[in-house]
Amino acid sequence: MTAKLLINASYFIVALLFILGLKSMSSPLTARRGILWAGAGMVLATLVTFGWPGMNNYTLMLVALAAGGGLSWWSGKAVRMTDMPQMVALYNGMGGGAAAAIAAIELVRGETHGSLVASLAVLGGLIGAVSFSGSLVAFAKLQGIMRKTLHLPVQNTINMFLAAFTFLVAVMIAVYGHASTAKIILFFGLSLALGAVITMPIGGADMPVVISLFNALTGLAVGFEGAVLNNPALIIAGIVVGSAGTLLTRLMARAMNRSLVNILFKPITGESPAGGLAATGTLKEISALDAASLLRYAQKVIIVPGYGMAVGQAQHKVKEMSTLLEEAGVDVKFAIHPVAGRMPGHMNVLLAEAGVPYDKIFDLEEINDEFSHTDVALVVGANDVVNPAARTEKTSPLYGMPILNADKAHTVIVIKRGKGTGYSGIENALFSANGTRLLYGNAMAAVSALIKDIKELSS
Ligand code: NAP
Repeated sequence: MTAKLLINASYFIVALLFILGLKSMSSPLTARRGILWAGAGMVLATLVTFGWPGMNNYTLMLVALAAGGGLSWWSGKAVRMTDMPQMVALYNGMGGGAAAAIAAIELVRGETHGSLVASLAVLGGLIGAVSFSGSLVAFAKLQGIMRKTLHLPVQNTINMFLAAFTFLVAVMIAVYGHASTAKIILFFGLSLALGAVITMPIGGADMPVVISLFNALTGLAVGFEGAVLNNPALIIAGIVVGSAGTLLTRLMARAMNRSLVNILFKPITGESPAGGLAATGTLKEISALDAASLLRYAQKVIIVPGYGMAVGQAQHKVKEMSTLLEEAGVDVKFAIHPVAGRMPGHMNVLLAEAGVPYDKIFDLEEINDEFSHTDVALVVGANDVVNPAARTEKTSPLYGMPILNADKAHTVIVIKRGKGTGYSGIENALFSANGTRLLYGNAMAAVSALIKDIKELSS
């Protein structure tokens, strides 16, 4: 009795630590602390669970902890910043898979369960398995193991039939409270197939939202399985992850002006070159020296970082350049699009790592009106997030997505390596617009050249 009381009191502290952690993660200033809070909560929850009634195979538990902890420690250190989305997808998948595994075990031992508990197990199992296979497909796509999109003929009809059949089997298991092993295997096989089939056609600009959706689903599945096991820590962790994931999914979908229904059933393929504004002008190159003098003698410069800055690892050089410009009297600001880069908050993390002060970094809504009275918009490896087709081209897959108004600046300088398209794979007429100049090169080398020339101009 006392042991159970102690465990539940500890779980209460765990819940507080999770909530505190999540709250702190909402600002870049306190995010590191937030991760420590939530991490401490996770460690406490794990330790306390050793005392949970029925937990007596300590060897197996320790082996699982060592394997999971060791792998995540290694991957956390080894995986590059640009590969984080894949890692997040994989971790989401593991969470969903773990919830599905709990459901499978509970259903196999089903005799002791009433139909309410069986329903929760089935629901958690279904959602967990969908999230597991869907996340693995997302991982394979982002890692380049799988073609970006795989569209089956009559895709939506297949999805609908598969979903209906899976639900039917799920309901049958839930109503009877138990099922034969064959039926349970069929149920999980169908759920796994459903997750994979739904995710296969989705690509392009929608992938971040889908990963976030699976994150929310994993939370939900874990919460349901927590109820099955009667474990408050699992329920709380599931609710926290589920609700945070749902909010993030909604925010990201809104930032891209895509509804979830559109994302799941009318995916952007990411492979079609159509849908951009036809490039009417020619691409006009600029030398580093000319670009440096435009920047050095400007009154106001807005820097728009994108995926190319992340791949080029140019954030430290970008910070160094912005400091030089400020020392020369230029007003420098950074404009961050909510889906710039390859994961939510990607640019914020990189700029924070490089030491760019937070009060220089602005979200889309805060800064978009300023472009029209800005001398130079410097686009460092961004493309889709400054594509004007999103405003006007009804046929464009980006249509309706709010973009940064870089094209409204007096001059636009774009750093990129060549004629590469952005993540959505469509053309960008900004690059050939009258006021745009292209500074070709890898982001790191191009910004280093700018730094050298700005220094010479200032000496
Ligand atoms: P983007 O549209 O992917 O464009 C990146 C640009 O950077 C390309 O034009 C490319 O052109 C250039 N580039 C690539 N490597 C470079 C390097 N080493 N040095 C210099 N330039 C380089 O990037 P974005 O504007 O940031 O837009 C993000 C896109 O990713 C959106 O479509 C978004 O929906 C999607 N997405 C976002 C997330 C997220 O959560 N943030 C996750 C997944 C997908 P060159 O090849 O010619 O150099």
